[in-house]
Order: sequence, then structure tokens, then C-alpha cells
Amino acid sequence: MAGGNKDKLGKGTRLVTGGRSGDFAGHVVNPPVWRASTHLYENCAALREGVKNNEDGAFFYGRRGAPTQWSLSEALTELEPGAHGTVLYPSGVAAIVGALMAVLRAGDVLLVTDNAYDPTRNAAMGILKRYGVEHRFFDPLDPDGFAEIFCERTKAVMLECPGSLTMEVCDIPALARIAREKGAVSLVDNTWATSLGFAALEHGCDIAITALTKHVGGHSDLMMGAATAGERWYRRLRQTSQQLGHVVSPDDASLALRGLRTMGVRLERETATALEIAMWLEQRPEIAHVLCPMLPGSTGHDLWERDFTGGCGLFSFVLKDRDDAARCRLIDALDLFGIGYSWGGFESLALPFDVAPVRSRMAWPKQGWGVEDSCGIRLSIGLEDPADLIADLEQAMAAMDEG
Ligand SMILES: *Cc1c(COP(=O)(O)O)cnc(C)c1O
Repeated sequence: MAGGNKDKLGKGTRLVTGGRSGDFAGHVVNPPVWRASTHLYENCAALREGVKNNEDGAFFYGRRGAPTQWSLSEALTELEPGAHGTVLYPSGVAAIVGALMAVLRAGDVLLVTDNAYDPTRNAAMGILKRYGVEHRFFDPLDPDGFAEIFCERTKAVMLECPGSLTMEVCDIPALARIAREKGAVSLVDNTWATSLGFAALEHGCDIAITALTKHVGGHSDLMMGAATAGERWYRRLRQTSQQLGHVVSPDDASLALRGLRTMGVRLERETATALEIAMWLEQRPEIAHVLCPMLPGSTGHDLWERDFTGGCGLFSFVLKDRDDAARCRLIDALDLFGIGYSWGGFESLALPFDVAPVRSRMAWPKQGWGVEDSCGIRLSIGLEDPADLIADLEQAMAAMDEG
């Protein structure tokens, strides 16, 4: 859905006002849940006329979207400086794969950051490969090496920042500039920071992708994704998603809009709590590394300070001299942290991870830790009180070492 930018307004104001223009919302605060597949026409002439208009905002058939979904798209577009429109997808993964299919064709080469979300790697190695797209993984912390792996068939670069699980911040403006110079389109998975914390298009990326399942939904009860871009790429995204038949339900779009209104305050609170917990963890003898972009000394912290205007509650740490059994004892002993995938909800979660199976190129010793001590735990910090979460972690660490 295309929408005008209201770049002058503050982010909090845009979160509140976005997508609430009278056309879609009517005279209520929240756009109604507009459930519809079929548009009824007066006569055959009107039906033939209707089919000609494939613009956003012209209701023709449910698969092309309806007012509730358009409201959400417009609100997301208004949050991304430099954007022309946003396409919604049934999940974050659908947004990533849908956007890659929109910009690539058989014979092209795709470069994928080595610390990408695992399903992004799998799409490159799976469906995209089957449809004739080749891929190369690259180390995002090595811009010179990155520049060297382009060939004349390289058409797209898939970025993600901070890196999945290991949380390194790379120099997105530098990588996006190289991609542009080489004639490749750059896409970034911006789920961690959202457009509130990182203005992806302003920093040189062409397409910003967000798993709305995480912070925008914010309440662990919906799946959705979005891709936001300037006019040229928006047209391609929209055309491809219509050909793929992607739709999101108006009920879920309405839930996502509800989540979006409070996303700013939730992110601020989570970020502050996460930093407090990260600083506490850093002092603990059980911990080898805390991987948190907001934490001074973390890989890429300086770039985070330079390019980002916000953080979030998701970060990781690595246990020192502990094995998987000890790690599981710690996680199992947690009371306030749920054990589960996903993140960005109001509740805290913990998850064990190992790096070696999901990396091809990155040189871990360079960052001061090797695959051998990759006994990692990822935390998604929610809205609980920081003191309670810290007390919970402290008792779980004691349980870990009591064996
Ligand atoms: C969860 C996630 C996705 C995928 O979102 P789904 O809605 O679960 O498909 C994509 N990127 C990142 C970084 C994620 O954490």
C-alpha cells in the first residue's frame, strides 16, 4: 500500500496517527476489521471497469487487500523515511522469500550475510536454488572481502543487522553503498531494530523487511511480515506478492495495528531492561561473552551508536566452561522466562543455541571466541521488572552449578 511520508512528525506521533486517515478508518479510532473476499457490482459494465483499477485503495477482490490491511501498510510506510509503500506477507519468512523472488531471476547470484536468520539461509540453499538462483555467503564484518565476491551476475544482497543469535553489528551503509556501486539491490532484515531503531532506506538499503510477528504484533499471538521500499521496488514487490497470492487476514492486520500503537514504549522499556541485564551478566563468573549491541565493547557497538536510534530486548550470552547439560539446567530452572522460539512479545523468553551449524564463513576467533565455546543462550526480554528477571537468572545459575 502506497502512502505519503510524514517525516516531520516524531516517531511516537507517527505510531499513533499512522494509517488512520478517514478513508480507511471511518469515524472510529481503530480501522474496523473489514472482512471481505467479494466486491458486488451494480452491473457488468461496473464489473469490467472495476477490474481495470489495480491501484491500492480500490477494492476489487480480497486477495488484493482491503481497508484494514491498507491501514496497516500505510502506518508502516509512514514510519520508514524514504518509503513509498509496504507489502504485507503472511509471515516474516514469507516477506523475506517474497522480496527475494521479486528482485531475482534464474541465473542471478544472491549474496547472503553469513549471520542471517537460519530460514533465510535455508531459502537461499533451498527454494531459490531450485529456481536457478545461486548464492554466496559473506562475512559482514569484512567489507573488503564483500566487495571482492561480486560478479556480473550478482543482483541482490541480503543483509541483517545485528546478526542472528550472535548479534554483531555490521557497517550497513558501507555494504549497501558497495552493493549499489556494483548494481545490486540491497535488502535488509530489520526485525531487530524495526524502522523506529534503524532507518534502513535512509542508510542506503533498497528494501526493508520486518517480521511483524515480533515487535509489531508484540503479544505473541500473530504471524505476519512486511517489506517496505521506495516506489520502484515497491511496484515489483507488490506485483510479485499478488502473483504468489499472498494475503493477510483483516483480523491479524487489526491485531498488528493494535500492537503497533504501543511499540515505541515497549521497545524503550525492553531495551533499558536488556541493557541492565546484559551489564549484570557481564560481571558474572559463569559468563564468557555477552553479545548485546547496546553494551559497550560488544562487536559493532560503535556502529550501533552511529547508525541506530534504538535497541530492543533481544540479545545473547555465552557460558564459560560449561557444557550443554549445564546450559539446559540453567534454562530449565528459569521461572519467569518461557522456553521457546520467537521474540518481541511482552513476556521474556530463553533459548539455547549453537553457532557452528548455522555459519559458513565467519571467522569466530576474530571476535575473541571460538566455536568450541559456543554454548550460547539467547534472551528475549519482555516487560517484567528488571530486578525480578535478574533474580530469576541468579537462582537459575546457582541451580546450573549445583548439578
Ligand atoms: C522471526 C524472524 C523472522 C521470521 O518471522 P516469522 O514471522 O516467524 O516467519 C525473520 N527474521 C528474523 C530476524 C526473525 O527473528
